[in-house]
Amino acid sequence: MSDLYRFLPEELDTVVTGGGHPRYRADQVLHGLYQGSAVDLQSLAGIPATLRALFFEQGHSVGSAGEVRRVVSDDGETTKLLLRMGDGTLIETVLMQYPDEDGGKHPRSTVCVSTQAGCAMGCVFCATGQMGFERNLRAEEVVAQVVHISRALREREQHVTNVVFMGMGEPLANYPETLRAVKLLTHPRAFGLGQRSVTISTVGVLRSIERLAEEKLQVGLAISLHAPNDDLRRRLVPTASPTSVGDLVAAAKRYAKTTGRRVTFEYALLDGLNDSPALARELAALLVGSGTHVNLIPVNATSGGFRPPPRGRVLAFEAILREGGVNCTVRVEKGAEIAAACGQLRTDEGRGLISADSL
Ligand code: SF4
Repeated sequence: MSDLYRFLPEELDTVVTGGGHPRYRADQVLHGLYQGSAVDLQSLAGIPATLRALFFEQGHSVGSAGEVRRVVSDDGETTKLLLRMGDGTLIETVLMQYPDEDGGKHPRSTVCVSTQAGCAMGCVFCATGQMGFERNLRAEEVVAQVVHISRALREREQHVTNVVFMGMGEPLANYPETLRAVKLLTHPRAFGLGQRSVTISTVGVLRSIERLAEEKLQVGLAISLHAPNDDLRRRLVPTASPTSVGDLVAAAKRYAKTTGRRVTFEYALLDGLNDSPALARELAALLVGSGTHVNLIPVNATSGGFRPPPRGRVLAFEAILREGGVNCTVRVEKGAEIAAACGQLRTDEGRGLISADSL
């Protein structure tokens, strides 16, 4: 039994033509899945009953993500969803919108997807890391998150402009499903997003970074560094031990050389832990000349008790990097009041802090 959202268009062609139907019927199905509002085989509009019966006989279905909870930030720019997968697994998906110059009618709309339920990487400041690993998500479950938000946006005459694989889980520890999801989201006959509008974020699974580079895709890569030396990084990302910060810089350079895409290092700034001027200088020395970009992210307060540094220290850290010749930006904090950092909504649900009254 397969969810039709799992099929790449060429695979769907084979199913459809193999059942004696012309290939254009596959395009009709794809249109119903990605541009229509199909939630099951019955609501797949415009296809003949015989094709629907074929799918039924072969055990295919149309999957969808059920919305358990929706929380919107005060400024309306961040929406966090708690979604239920077919087997009851709860995962989080976030929509971040950045106003355009057109009065916000067509904002940049970035969907942050989860690739695993829970996560085995154990980053100390991350609510998902603290809940442990549950299971890998399948490609169609990643796609379902984007389709769900895309339909909500369509009602406002807006659309998904970017997808970042930065939600719950380590995408490169679920490599085959992550890659299939990228292909489905960027295939012109499926979701149709440009490859350059997709970014995969990893704590640094070296072998998978190499594999991804060899796929010859144009997707962006972000590596979560969080520290300029191995001792501190091991404290913040306990599973990182076998991979040194030097290994990560080397992997970033190779990825950029193979794909032509600049790599971003994500650096979560934690008050009093990794935000000192000395560490900023060490980070500048590590990265100068690497051609990479640093994204400084003042961390959202989490259940672990971590806090973002005061604004002045964030700006000082940024200035030292710039003076040291490293390209960097500070990410605008979004949605802190709705716990936009990954894993927090689900953690709160588990503790009964969020009621299920919106089910
Ligand atoms: S920050 Fe990302 S990689 Fe680290 S524990 Fe959380 S979900 Fe996993």
